[in-house]
Amino acid sequence: MKNIKDYNLEELKEQLKELGEKPFRAEQIFQWLYQEKVQSFDEMTNLSLELREKLKNNYTICNFNILKKQESKDGTIKYLLDVLDGNAIETVLMRYHHGNTICVSSQIGCKMGCKFCASTGIEFIRNLSCGEIVEQIIKVEQDTGERISNVVFMGIGEPLDNFQNVVNAIHLINYHKGLNIGARHISVSTSGIVPKIYKLAEENIQCTLSISLHATNNEKRSQMMPINKAYPIEELLQACKDYIAKTNRRISFEYALAKDNNDNLEDAKQLVKLLKGMLCHVNLIPINKIENGKFDKSSNENIIKFRDYLNEHGIVATIRRELGADIDAACGQLRRKNLEGR
Ligand code: SAH
Repeated sequence: MKNIKDYNLEELKEQLKELGEKPFRAEQIFQWLYQEKVQSFDEMTNLSLELREKLKNNYTICNFNILKKQESKDGTIKYLLDVLDGNAIETVLMRYHHGNTICVSSQIGCKMGCKFCASTGIEFIRNLSCGEIVEQIIKVEQDTGERISNVVFMGIGEPLDNFQNVVNAIHLINYHKGLNIGARHISVSTSGIVPKIYKLAEENIQCTLSISLHATNNEKRSQMMPINKAYPIEELLQACKDYIAKTNRRISFEYALAKDNNDNLEDAKQLVKLLKGMLCHVNLIPINKIENGKFDKSSNENIIKFRDYLNEHGIVATIRRELGADIDAACGQLRRKNLEGR
């Protein structure tokens, strides 16, 4: 059955026409789905019983089950969500002073194979649909009763490897009759699929693009991230420059610091060389060690030195706060699971 959250308003109007209904019903359904956030068609009380039956017979409302919920001592919550086909994904709610941020998954599994990330290495199952991405936000808002103000595509999966569904989801998240979250409060993080960065620039959405850079030369980056063999650093940065020129948006470069790998001042120096003059910001992430992973976290002292070097040389850099590490909800720690919990 079709997931009703996979449609934008115009498409849903078309669907209703096909069912022999008036298009304005789509507006009412949207209101129930995205403002009231109801979990069943029966709650859509301004629709006739007959229409509700028709909807039930033709669509699912995609109401994920919460299989597990873990709360960190810093207030971060990690959800294990049953996506209703025997698979489960993780979604994380982070509470910052400036509001609630949700970290959504875009795929069940990941094909990228980054050596430091727990989301990979396990089998790739499938893309999440637009509605399944949006449902993660709805579910967490419902569960906590709290408004979510920021969305980051930094959960399981490579968002640009699921391009159209992710772009559709961004539109639905942003749309004033959808979840109504400002485009500037939405970040898409990519390991660097260059042709899709050009394509995203064409979409002209005012979202933030984050690039997982993590190394300053191709040899090192390829060792950490196999995708670099297909799209080396020079090509990646060229695509970033194009993105900035087209969107006028500042890019955020993510750089996970691993002890004795990419965390010495020579790396910082190279990073300054690469990024000098670009409209950008560097987000330093103390790397989280994963099971059987060969990368260890840099010392705090090194991380601070690295940040200071960048800042002193004209590159704005901040250190990402580590939230949820005690519940394996921090960067790189999310995994897909099947329902046996494996
Ligand atoms: N596939 C996308 C988004 C998911 S990862 C991407 O690669 O960007 C979100 C961020 O967490 C990325 O910057 C990723 O490189 C980083 N990350 C992955 N594993 C990590 C780890 N073990 N420690 C710290 N950051 C990690």
